[in-house]
Amino acid sequence: MTINQQTTHIKETTIKEAIKTLLLIDKNNKELIELGVKQVAQLWELTDGEDDEFIIFCKKNYYSDLEEKKKLFFKTSEYLEAINGNFNGMLFRLQRHIHENTGPLQYIDKLFSSYSPDSHLSEDLYKSKIAFIIILNFPRLTLDEKEKLGDNRLLLAYARMGDLFTNRIPAFVKQKCAISHNNAEVYISNYHIYIGQLLKNGEKIFHEEKILLSHWGLRDEIKANYTQKEESLEKQQTIYEVMKRIILQEIPVEVIHSNNYQWDPFSNIIYKNEKVKIGTPEKITRYEKFIDNFKALQVIDSYTGNTYIDRYFSETMEISVKDTEIFFHNYLSSPELYTIGKIISKRLNRKLEAFDIWYDGFKYRSNISESILDTKTRSLYANAKAFEKKIHTILKKLGFDSERANYISKKITVDSARGSGHAWGAEMKGQQSHLRTPIGTKGMDYKGYNTAIHELGHNVEQTLSLYGVDYYLLSGVPNTAFTEALAFIFQRRDLELLGFDRKNSSEEESNLLILDKAWTLYEIIGVSMLDISVWKWIYINPNSTAKQLKNEIIRLSKEIWNKYFASVFGLQDQVILAIYSHMISYPLYLSAYAYGQIIEFQLEQYLDGKDFAKEINRMYCIGHLTPTQWMLKATGSTISVLPLLESIKKTINDIKF
Ligand SMILES: [Zn+2]
Repeated sequence: MTINQQTTHIKETTIKEAIKTLLLIDKNNKELIELGVKQVAQLWELTDGEDDEFIIFCKKNYYSDLEEKKKLFFKTSEYLEAINGNFNGMLFRLQRHIHENTGPLQYIDKLFSSYSPDSHLSEDLYKSKIAFIIILNFPRLTLDEKEKLGDNRLLLAYARMGDLFTNRIPAFVKQKCAISHNNAEVYISNYHIYIGQLLKNGEKIFHEEKILLSHWGLRDEIKANYTQKEESLEKQQTIYEVMKRIILQEIPVEVIHSNNYQWDPFSNIIYKNEKVKIGTPEKITRYEKFIDNFKALQVIDSYTGNTYIDRYFSETMEISVKDTEIFFHNYLSSPELYTIGKIISKRLNRKLEAFDIWYDGFKYRSNISESILDTKTRSLYANAKAFEKKIHTILKKLGFDSERANYISKKITVDSARGSGHAWGAEMKGQQSHLRTPIGTKGMDYKGYNTAIHELGHNVEQTLSLYGVDYYLLSGVPNTAFTEALAFIFQRRDLELLGFDRKNSSEEESNLLILDKAWTLYEIIGVSMLDISVWKWIYINPNSTAKQLKNEIIRLSKEIWNKYFASVFGLQDQVILAIYSHMISYPLYLSAYAYGQIIEFQLEQYLDGKDFAKEINRMYCIGHLTPTQWMLKATGSTISVLPLLESIKKTINDIKF
């Protein structure tokens, strides 16, 4: 990427003079000196000093002696670990009651939990010149330059230090982003549809009490209805009508997060005590939230010299948006998807409908009923402590030796979650990582257990990639897609870990698994593609109104549908891809799921037939390299959708459907 395009007030002649001065001390590192001095100059503000002070600063703080530079690096790493770890510990305590099931909340809990103790940290580090010393000696490298460092771990760690201070965004700008993000999140998290009140031909078709959150709950209800029951299709069609009303913003505000009215989404008429009423359409609120997020993030552009799209892809993910689009396009264009569509249509015994992007019928259906599983997990794990005590045994079942299992399990604490589960990682050695999963009064049910195994995957990654990596600056994984991959790998083994033998799964089962993977990826890449297209459009049309954005999202969703889905489904002009809530509350995040699924598939394929624990241990100690470097080290090949496509082809050829 290009470091800041913004103009600096340090004169060009001053920059040249500073470089010249440093070259007198160290003539062997011209490139690094030029990079460091220029990057410091770009972020240097008037209050940091005049031009002559800038030159004095560079001369005084540049480390030409390599041993001294190494010492500077280690000391800085140690301080950063202390800062990150303790802020993390503080945040953990401030949010504990929000995340853990500790009884009713008080207003004071909400106030403390939204307080961010580190919001001025970056500004303080610039003011104290710590940030400038880091930039001068460890300047930022491009992705290309990082990849050329090869196996030199120390230089790779130096490069990660160079990623720490690349812009100087005032706290008030960050605050504004946090507010618009928070507003969008509140809007989305309260978008409940009382589907028990939905009508079709005047009849209620769902359980009276049923309430679902858009889009997750609505989507999962469609998935859950791939059963043979007669009313299943009717339910799916009704939910799809609801989704369309949300996307088109024709949904009456009277039925959002409220059960005051009954609603027929087909005619869009609402009823109260049998009286007919035309509701008030929501119109544009959904798209206003998007615009607010865009405006807040766009302000940052002037401090970074690039766009939010670049920051998310090239910097956070370290995969360019251009490569992502090519990658996604190639997958969406694979002819095998057409065949899978035919297989699904045959299995359903009907023509495909747009919502069949969520077809769920390939999944391995355990013949063990959920209630048997609930009884089993409840008796094994009566409370959080019971699960914590068994982590050691679970890891041993996965193949870790006793000593290693002990080492990892001692660093994980289990808590009962208030909401859905998550894994809270440690950020300094000596700090516990926390596994949180919902546990009822009767103990941990199967759903909670399934989540716990997913989170355990995260905790194991967090532990290995903090303790097992040689440099603190290299701790972690390349991006969120890599940690999700391991969590899914663990989660997929949950029944095996409960003692149900899945090792001899039939060939048919593994074939279905491939088809399931192919279809799930098709869907998530489709919505990710829309997400990217919308962001590219808004950057070209930054002054658009919410109404214009709405029209464009509808137009783009149809365009992407017609390009990649229409021929498989035999349907034109569908808007379904625009339903994801992430598009409104987590800008551009969807692509991480797509990558996570691809990486998971490649890791599983690599792990097949190998020593699971040994390989996991090795892979998750590689650390925070670039995605390409990490995958090459882990599996010997780069991130690619080809292995999955090969398996799909083989499956389609092998099986007579
Ligand atoms: Zn996860």
